[in-house]
Amino acid sequence: MNFSDVIGQEEVKAQLRRQIAAGHVPHAQLFCGPEGCGTLPMALAFATALLCQNGGEEPCGACPGCKMAAKGAHPDLHFVFPVYKRAGQTTPAVSDQFLDTWREMLAESGGYFDRAEWLGRIGVENQQLLISVAESDLILRKLSLKSGQGGYKVMIVWLPELMNVETANKLLKILEEPPSETAFILVSDHPDSLLATIRSRTQRIDFRPLTDTDIMQALMKRNALEEADAKVVARLSEGSYVRALRQLQVNEDTALFFDMFVLLMRMSYMRKIKDMHEWAERVASWGRERQKNFIDYCQRLVRENFMYNFQKPELNYMSRQEAEFAVRFARFVNERNVIGIMNELSDARRDIAQNVNPKMVFFDFALKMIVLLIQ
Ligand SMILES: [Zn+2]
Repeated sequence: MNFSDVIGQEEVKAQLRRQIAAGHVPHAQLFCGPEGCGTLPMALAFATALLCQNGGEEPCGACPGCKMAAKGAHPDLHFVFPVYKRAGQTTPAVSDQFLDTWREMLAESGGYFDRAEWLGRIGVENQQLLISVAESDLILRKLSLKSGQGGYKVMIVWLPELMNVETANKLLKILEEPPSETAFILVSDHPDSLLATIRSRTQRIDFRPLTDTDIMQALMKRNALEEADAKVVARLSEGSYVRALRQLQVNEDTALFFDMFVLLMRMSYMRKIKDMHEWAERVASWGRERQKNFIDYCQRLVRENFMYNFQKPELNYMSRQEAEFAVRFARFVNERNVIGIMNELSDARRDIAQNVNPKMVFFDFALKMIVLLIQ
């Protein structure tokens, strides 16, 4: 993990580079910022820089120290993160029991994931995550050992706000007077839930949400998106690259929804009743959640097309493909029918939520579009 693997956050990068260059690395820092802004990737890059055997403000990426750190498997790089007690487990739950999963997650995401994704990965959705007292004993033990490589020892604590009072209290002393060449990096998205005693013993660095431009450029470079598409995703991500990645997942469905919407509009216009029946059967074969998402998508596209007629591009949020379609289609959505179409979609959504036969719901909607589209 290098600083260049961290999206945006140039001010924080500069501040951390200055610490390294000056040889004044605070022994306990608190990286704070909203989910998806890159606090954990920054902690990894900073830790790598501290563990790089070639020193310098940038990790070299080539030495054994950098290579081990990149896998999250450096003997002097320790991780603590919230976990849960498995059913029937008699020993306390600690991070080391989930370390393999944690490393996989880091390797796949570069540290861009949030607590919901972590919960999903370790296979629980409604369990309470915590950092147990047993964990603080382990931290003390790990940091009392001599560093394996004769340099820094780094302890990254992800979501320290999930420590209970007892766990936190045990760490106060070591946070205040750690062994030499020890760097604690606490990575928090809810620093206000941290105990004041912990906050007062750490040097705080605040991260801002990412800018739309940062996210847009990252999507083009890392995810091979075209500029127009990257722009739309970035706008919907609210400063979180994690949310942007989730949006990409949704976009795969969106491509299908777009095709199905266009198909229906063509068939309705040409009154191809038999094809419309097949179309309804196909949509009916999807799961109910997906059907609801499809209806939401249709509503959005109808709204965008209606607005397109007013020629205010700054108010239109469409992908390139959707915008190209709007050039021809928008004139069919007008003052006479827009409310009718939106109401039909709302009714369809309500019926789907109430378990009405989806084949009937979607065929019914398709038939109504024949009448509505020519108004
Ligand atoms: Zn190196």
